[in-house]
Amino acid sequence: MESILNVAGLRKSYGDFALQDVSFSLPEGCITGFIGLNGAGKTTTLQTILGLTGRISGSVSFFGLDMQTDEQRIKDRIGVILDGGCFYDELSLTEMKSIIAPAYTTWSEQDFRGYLERFHLNPRQKIHTLSKGMKMKYALALALSHKAEFLIMDEPTSGLDPLIRSQLLTILADYMNGGGKGVFFSTHITSDLDKIADVLIMMDNGRIVFQEEKDTLLDNYRIVKGDQKSLNADIRKLFWRITETEFGFTGITKRAAEVRQHMPGAVMERPAIEDIMLCNIEGGRK
Ligand code: ATP
Repeated sequence: MESILNVAGLRKSYGDFALQDVSFSLPEGCITGFIGLNGAGKTTTLQTILGLTGRISGSVSFFGLDMQTDEQRIKDRIGVILDGGCFYDELSLTEMKSIIAPAYTTWSEQDFRGYLERFHLNPRQKIHTLSKGMKMKYALALALSHKAEFLIMDEPTSGLDPLIRSQLLTILADYMNGGGKGVFFSTHITSDLDKIADVLIMMDNGRIVFQEEKDTLLDNYRIVKGDQKSLNADIRKLFWRITETEFGFTGITKRAAEVRQHMPGAVMERPAIEDIMLCNIEGGRK
C-alpha cells in the first residue's frame, strides 16, 4: 500500500511543551483517528504538518512530495478542516466559495453545487446563520469540491449532535469508497472511531505512543473482571491497570492467555478505545 503522508522527526516547542521526534506514516485507503488527552499535542502536530507553525526540524511529505518544496502542489490535493473552517461570517456560502475556489486548480463548480444540494445547504445563506453542523458540512463541501485526495481534520465532530455526526461519518465512508484516498482526523469522541477508523495513532505529552490498526489494537487487550482473592503479586504484573472495589476487580491486560491460565473463572471482555487510551498515558500503567 502506498503511503499518503510521511512524517519524520518532527519537533516543535511552545514553552514547556514539545513535540518530540514525532514520526508516523499513513497508508492510502485508511481512515486514521488521532487520539490523546487534552494538551497531548494533536492540534500542534496537525498545524506543524501543514506548515502553519514554524517548524524546528523534521520532514513532512504528502504523496511523496516534500512539504518544504512542493507546498502548493500538495495543498491542491488535500482538504484541511481546522476549527470548523475559517470563514468570513458576513458572506454567503457562494460568496465565500468565490474567494476560496480560485486557490485550487482542481476546483469543480459542479461538485460544489452537488455537495450543497446533498448537504441541504442554501448557497445564499450567510455563514453566521449556519449551525455548527451546517458549518462543518460546508467546510467538507469546500474540501471535497477541489477533489482532495486526503482530508486532514481537527476534531471535526466535536460539538455536533449524534445525527449530524453519523451523517458526517457516512460522508467520509462514501468519500473513501472512491479509492486512493485517506482521512486523518483528531477526536475525543472515540465512539466515532469505533464506527469508522481503520488505524489509530495515539499521542501523549508530545510523543507518539502507538500507531496500530484498530482491530489489532482492540484484539491485543482484554478487560478482565474477577474476584480480588485470585490476585497475587505475580498476577498483578500481568495487568496494565487494576481497579478494585468491594465487589471485585477490573483490570486491563495484554496477556489474556496467561491471565486465563491463572483465573479460569474470570470474565474477559473486549476493551473500548478509551480503556486502551487510559492505560497508555504517562503514569497510566498502575
Ligand atoms: P486538545 O485535545 O485539548 O485540543 P491537543 O492534543 O490538540 O489538545 P495542543 O492544542 O496541540 O493539544 O496543545 C499542546 C500544548 O501546546 C499545550 O500545552 C498548549 O498549551 C500548547 N500550545 C498550543 N498552541 C500554542 C501556542 N500557539 N502558543 C503557546 N502554546 C501553545
